[in-house]
Amino acid sequence: MKRVYNFSAGPSCLPVEVLQRAADEMVSYGDSGMSVMEMSHRSSYFKDILAEAKSLYKELMNVPDNYEILFLQGGASTQFAMVPLNLLSKSNKADFMITGSWAKKAYQESARYGEAKVIASSEDKTFSYIPKVDSKDFTPDADFFHICVNNTIYGSRFRPDNLPDTGDVPLVGDMSSNILSEVYDVSKFGLIYAGAQKNMGPAGVTTVIIRKDLIGHAKDITPTMLNYKIHADNDSCYNTPPCYSIYICKLVYEWVKAKGGVAAMEKINKEKAKKLYDFIDNSKLFTAPVVPEDRSIMNVTFVTGSDELDALFVKGSKKAGMENLKGHRSIGGMRASIYNAMPMAGIDTLIDFMKKFEKENA
Ligand SMILES: *Cc1c(COP(=O)(O)O)cnc(C)c1O
Repeated sequence: MKRVYNFSAGPSCLPVEVLQRAADEMVSYGDSGMSVMEMSHRSSYFKDILAEAKSLYKELMNVPDNYEILFLQGGASTQFAMVPLNLLSKSNKADFMITGSWAKKAYQESARYGEAKVIASSEDKTFSYIPKVDSKDFTPDADFFHICVNNTIYGSRFRPDNLPDTGDVPLVGDMSSNILSEVYDVSKFGLIYAGAQKNMGPAGVTTVIIRKDLIGHAKDITPTMLNYKIHADNDSCYNTPPCYSIYICKLVYEWVKAKGGVAAMEKINKEKAKKLYDFIDNSKLFTAPVVPEDRSIMNVTFVTGSDELDALFVKGSKKAGMENLKGHRSIGGMRASIYNAMPMAGIDTLIDFMKKFEKENA
């Protein structure tokens, strides 16, 4: 069986153990005689899968009891609208930090429903850093403060110890590309959302972790399907949930737990990222554009400085058994997405290839 090292930003590589388990259970789940894809979402089999997924996720993320966990559809992009529709309930104002394309999209969507203020942006330097901010510049009565915790395209992140201090204003974090990658204190957030297809499972399901007091204040115009209360009251089964995607997430949660949980993932992820960044920082050919203190440990961006060499690198890497190292179409260069499921051997293969490429082209 051929398996490549897949550095895709999303959908992205999943643990091979998870894929194999899914394959084993594909035709008949347990003693059900049917696939999870074929069973009623009201069946006891699926109810158990959902309950187990929710409880494992709660445990892995150390989610306090005053938070609700939802499994929704529509991707992280739907959250860009759902968050303001549900949270803009008092002052109708929200603050934003623009640290990349996803953060900007969240801001633009929110501006359609209320007052949206940009507190800081790193667009001046192609989003290569996380701006330093001062709480006194924040809107004191804002309904929420939004950040994109890990910037998938540019390769920067808010470290867990570098979150903006928003006081009583609920902090909303898009953690689509770094959920389950290192330990973040959920209680510092009012809401965390994450599309599954980067570090958690297949496309089709988006998780929302929301403080319970933030549920139930949606604007009147909010479509039923975009109201957190509807989904919370119906335990994510108001309508048919993305059953199979939730089932795969459950298998991923079991895998993460078996590996020692998020803290253990963090340790390995930091080793993987450090090895790669250290090599790049000592290279005569490659450079990493993001300032060291704000670098993502999930999406490592780097360039040679020449578009031609970048293209040659991407082409050559495919021959060496690596896929999807091309940077996002908006910035070019290279990007290695090294999510939980990417083994250290993938990093070593990449570095070996970079060494060879440097020798031949520097
Ligand atoms: C991929 C991504 C999105 C968009 O996710 P969809 O599920 O495609 O809507 C939003 N935010 C971040 C940080 C992402 O990485």
